Amino acid sequence: MQSQKPTIADLLASGERPLHSFEFMPPRSEDDVYRLWSATDALVPMAPDFISVTYGANGSRRDRTLRCTQHMVSTGLRTVGHLTCVSQSVADLEQMVADYAESGVDHILAIRGDMPGGARQPWEPHPDGLPNATELVRLVKRIHPDACVGVGAFPDGHPEARDIDVDARILVNKAEAGASFAITQLFFFPSHYQRLVAKVRDMGCDIPIIPGIMPITSYGQIRRFAELSGTDVPAELVAQIEEVKDDKAAVRRIGLAAAVDMCCELLDAGAPGLHYFTLNRSRATTELRTMLAQRRPDLAGLPHGAQASSAA
Ligand SMILES: Cc1cc2nc3c(=O)[nH]c(=O)nc-3n(C[C@H](O)[C@H](O)[C@H](O)COP(=O)(O)OP(=O)(O)OC[C@H]3O[C@@H](n4cnc5c(N)ncnc54)[C@H](O)[C@@H]3O)c2cc1C
Repeated sequence: MQSQKPTIADLLASGERPLHSFEFMPPRSEDDVYRLWSATDALVPMAPDFISVTYGANGSRRDRTLRCTQHMVSTGLRTVGHLTCVSQSVADLEQMVADYAESGVDHILAIRGDMPGGARQPWEPHPDGLPNATELVRLVKRIHPDACVGVGAFPDGHPEARDIDVDARILVNKAEAGASFAITQLFFFPSHYQRLVAKVRDMGCDIPIIPGIMPITSYGQIRRFAELSGTDVPAELVAQIEEVKDDKAAVRRIGLAAAVDMCCELLDAGAPGLHYFTLNRSRATTELRTMLAQRRPDLAGLPHGAQASSAA
């Protein structure tokens, strides 16, 4: 097993250049397995600073996350295993953190999770579980003190809170509980990211906040983003896409161009990295990275530290 050092926190502290990283989902079927490995074969040669693997709400999905992270770690990728509180007792969570530690997964994204019915279902903690991500950060640090812990952040405001001040305060709480970095939910207004960062800094907290990026590549995504995560899409961008909504290639072109503009604006504003939500597909992320490298050649530098020598 290769070393996961330097950690993501070390890389962020070095400030050498913005990090780039990819989120994957554990496969649920044979087809998913093929899709995941196709995506990693295409994306891992881009030498991501880290990759992350999402966590499902039931037992079999959790096993898949563990197996997937174990595989990624074994290939030398700096791997973040997600962990949520959903439908799990404290004992279950402790076991999962211990399993991660034993597998060499030293990076954990500690998030509360949503109920199996989706983000719009009212949150119900497990009777013997934890109420929120802040408590989960504490649990992870107790069981795996060397873990480098990340947390979620919400530039548009968390759908349940819808109060950016409360959200900023909760992010600061998570940092005080031991989180070393945050990754945001997807968003489309760079100003919302800057607003969140400013509020957190005003509260005296310097946790690095990495923007989560997902370009719009189809017309249907706009409605899904709003439904799933309460994400606001700029009216001007919606109008541009609506004008060409029957031309898939044109929709994609507009969505990617908007994403590149947003990434440049975020980097200019000091974002410490970009985390791409790949949905286990490589095309949009590859196109976005290529377009971005043309605008920002400084991003095409050598990878930080020890990285994978071969595709996963
Ligand atoms: C980068 C990223 C990755 C994700 N990966 C996954 C995944 O793998 N699997 C998955 O199921 N979901 C995932 N999610 C979705 C996430 O689980 C949901 O967005 C969830 O609703 C919030 O998680 P959280 O960690 O921000 O929760 P929390 O920080 O606990 O916050 C949840 C809500 O409770 C409020 N709150 C929290 N603490 C307090 C307090 N002390 N007092 C008052 N209010 C409080 C917050 O304002 C917020 O409204 C991810 C989200 C992000 C941003």
